[in-house]
Amino acid sequence: MISAAERREQLKSVFEQARDCTRCALHQTRTRVVFGSGNADADLMFVGEAPGANEDLQGLPFVGQAGKLLSKLLEEIGMARDEVFICNTLKCRPPNNRDPHPEEIEACSEYLHRQVELIRPSVICTLGNFATKLLRRDQTGISRLHGQEEVRLIGARVVRLYPLYHPAAALYTPTTLELLRADFRRIPELLAMGDPPQPEAGPDEPVEATDQLGSAAPVQARRASSSRAPGDGARPSPGGPGDGTRADASDGAGSGVGPPAHGAEGSMVPEETSAQPPPADQLCLF
Ligand code: SF4
Repeated sequence: MISAAERREQLKSVFEQARDCTRCALHQTRTRVVFGSGNADADLMFVGEAPGANEDLQGLPFVGQAGKLLSKLLEEIGMARDEVFICNTLKCRPPNNRDPHPEEIEACSEYLHRQVELIRPSVICTLGNFATKLLRRDQTGISRLHGQEEVRLIGARVVRLYPLYHPAAALYTPTTLELLRADFRRIPELLAMGDPPQPEAGPDEPVEATDQLGSAAPVQARRASSSRAPGDGARPSPGGPGDGTRADASDGAGSGVGPPAHGAEGSMVPEETSAQPPPADQLCLF
C-alpha cells in the first residue's frame, strides 16, 4: 500500500504527462490542459464534462459562476473546496464547447482512471448528464438519477457514484438549485459510509481494463430518498454570463442540462482574474 505522499507524487507525474498530451485532436485547439485541482487525498471527487473557455485559458476547473456555486454548496454542508478534488472527464476543451467525440473520450479516459486510482475517493459526484452517462455507461438522464448513489467500479477503484445536476444548470433555474442543494445535503452521509469494499486485487493493482470510463454494471445499487422532479428543464441560457465548464445537453428524459454556451462557471480563481493572461499550466493541489 503506497502512502498518500507517494500517491500525490504519482498524481503530479500523471499531470506532467497530461500537460503535454497529444493523444487526441483536442491538443491542437486547447490553450491549456485542465487536469483538475484540489486535495490529492480527497474522499470526495467531483467530475464534470469538459473545460470551458475560461478554464482552457486558466488551466483550472470550474472557474466562474458555476464553480462559485459549487464552493457555496460545499460550504453549506461544512466542507471547503480544498478538501475535495474537482476535474472533468475530458482534460482539454472541445472547440466551441461542442460535444466530445468518442475517440477523444476513449483517449482521455486513462487520465481520469489514474486520478481515481491515486486520489482514492470514496464518493464521486458526477456533475450533469454527460459525466453521469459516461461514468455509468448508460443513457439514463440526470433528472432520473440525481441524488441516487450506487456502488460502481471506475477504472480500478470501487466508489459510491452520486450523480448531481450540473451547477451551471442551477444558476439559471431555481428549482434545479433546490434539487441540487437537497442532493448536496446527503453527501456527508455518503462520506460517513466510508469506502465501499474494494476488488480483491486492491487499488494499487489494476483490476480490469475498462474500454472507456466506468464499468459496465453497478456493483450494488442503492436508492436515495432525495426529492426529484420529472424533468427539470434546467438549461443554462445560451450566451449567458461568464464562460465555463461545459454542462451537457438534454438527457432524453426531458431534463437536460444544456450547454452553457459561453456561460458562467466556477471559482477557484477570483472572477476578476479571468481576463488576465493565463498562468503557467497548473496542478493546484492541497
Ligand atoms: S483531451 Fe485528453 S487525450 Fe485528448 S489531448 Fe487532451 S489530455 Fe490528451
